[in-house]
Amino acid sequence: MKRKIAIIGSGFSSLSAASYLAKAGHEVDVYEKNSSLGGRARQLKKNGFTFDMGPSWYWMPDVFESFYNDFGKTTSDLYELERLDPGYQVVFGDKDAIPIGDSLEKIYTVFEKEEPGSSEKLRRFMARAKENYDIAIKDLVYRPGLSPLELVTPVTIRKINYFLSTIKKDVYKEFKSPKLRQILQFPVLFLGAKPSNTPSFYNFMNWADFGLGTWHPKNGMYRIVEGMVSIASEMGVRFHTHSSVEKIEVNSQGKAEGLIIEGKKISVDIILSGADYHHTEGLLDPKYRVYSESYWDKKVFAPSSLLFYIGLSKKIKEVYHHNLFFDVDFDRHAQAIYDKPKWPDNPLFYANFPSVSDPTMAPKGKEACFLLIPIAPGLEDTPELRKHYYELIMDRLEKLTGQELKTYVEFYESFCVNDFIETYNSYKGNAYGLANTLLQTAFLRPKLKSKKVKDLFFTGQLTVPGPGVPPALISGKLVAELIQKGT
Ligand SMILES: Cc1cc2nc3c(=O)[nH]c(=O)nc-3n(C[C@H](O)[C@H](O)[C@H](O)COP(=O)(O)OP(=O)(O)OC[C@H]3O[C@@H](n4cnc5c(N)ncnc54)[C@H](O)[C@@H]3O)c2cc1C
Repeated sequence: MKRKIAIIGSGFSSLSAASYLAKAGHEVDVYEKNSSLGGRARQLKKNGFTFDMGPSWYWMPDVFESFYNDFGKTTSDLYELERLDPGYQVVFGDKDAIPIGDSLEKIYTVFEKEEPGSSEKLRRFMARAKENYDIAIKDLVYRPGLSPLELVTPVTIRKINYFLSTIKKDVYKEFKSPKLRQILQFPVLFLGAKPSNTPSFYNFMNWADFGLGTWHPKNGMYRIVEGMVSIASEMGVRFHTHSSVEKIEVNSQGKAEGLIIEGKKISVDIILSGADYHHTEGLLDPKYRVYSESYWDKKVFAPSSLLFYIGLSKKIKEVYHHNLFFDVDFDRHAQAIYDKPKWPDNPLFYANFPSVSDPTMAPKGKEACFLLIPIAPGLEDTPELRKHYYELIMDRLEKLTGQELKTYVEFYESFCVNDFIETYNSYKGNAYGLANTLLQTAFLRPKLKSKKVKDLFFTGQLTVPGPGVPPALISGKLVAELIQKGT
């Protein structure tokens, strides 16, 4: 039966759900508060520079391809995708960096050089990671998190140990070099939690990293948004920007029946929200909210971030497209995010120079630079703090890459906790949702369907499967299937 469906927000999960629902014949309208579509994947264009403001790592190309295939398309119909070589480098000090090449053989070679005997261990580690990837991404993540039984299959029963141990334990058991240990723990940071708090099963992220590689859509990640919006539009989805939803109306039978935007009611049959889950429940009268403030307060959230978008008036040496600066103590920084939330004294950071591999991202002879420091959500955010960290990171970047940078800064802009809250209605300014810890996996995450309001659904990085662009695509598909089934 054709239903009138309103979707709140236009992030990847909403774009995905909208496309599937419109394809199934429903009338779908997407309401986005901001001026552009794509949620956190906005793009900043300034003085000829282009910056992806949110996601910049294109991992799991198979998940994107599978989404496009569902609509009779392939990735190359929508954008040009290039595998980066090296995918990234990890910097440990002055002239001390390990590049992660575009093939397993190249990676085995750098491991062996760093720790003799480690390449054999890595081969075995990657075989297990691939097996888990096939189980997780081809099967488990496509289950809607309705019941614990979804995770119980003959294959997962054999894998029970992978849910009892952690990534950190496994990596430390096999590898002795502190550098290799850090490299192998990096991919789980995308899940939003500490490696010591992430089940070993998530080592499938290591397969995503080394096995499947790091890719770049020419002209930036916003090309994914454009591609998905074009698919959704072809399916008949209508988009409304500058449309902030102020309230979700529920009738006396406990059924969602409309949205209030600029004081006017829009009546619909079904409401699906891809906005931050906590914010969406705040649009309901308190009696209809399933999760309390104390529930959210106890959850492990993925970090927030302090971000800088910098236009540099010269080309930069010693950097690649993606660079991780792990030259300081990883555990101390993690403590400041998860255990005792505070601004880190000496943070590790990520630096993205997209114009190194894609000349369309900056004017000729110049470099676009995007810096990210992960921080605890909910921290105080002031102009003075941002300036302090800008100076600190730029000094380190100059020292570690052995070149002058600050005098070549044409402009810089920053984005932090207050902006995440104001721009995206994000809980405590989290950058990428609810972490995937053991107790926040699958059926233990906030549900896709409201238990208190009929015809109200949720999607996105705070529900299943979790943070990241590929999971957002999957989340949209899962909720669309649930709506179709009428469960
Ligand atoms: C800095 C940063 C770096 C990241 N890096 C990566 C990466 O490299 N690779 C990767 O895979 N993932 C990365 N991520 C995570 C990834 O971007 C997210 O997990 C994903 O984009 C989330 O999509 P979503 O659909 O859940 O929601 P969102 O993108 O949060 O979209 C929600 C939308 O709802 C809108 N909204 C909120 N309230 C209302 C309202 N009341 N009315 C109307 N609209 C509303 C918001 O404006 C927003 O557009 C990163 C995220 C950030 C912030």
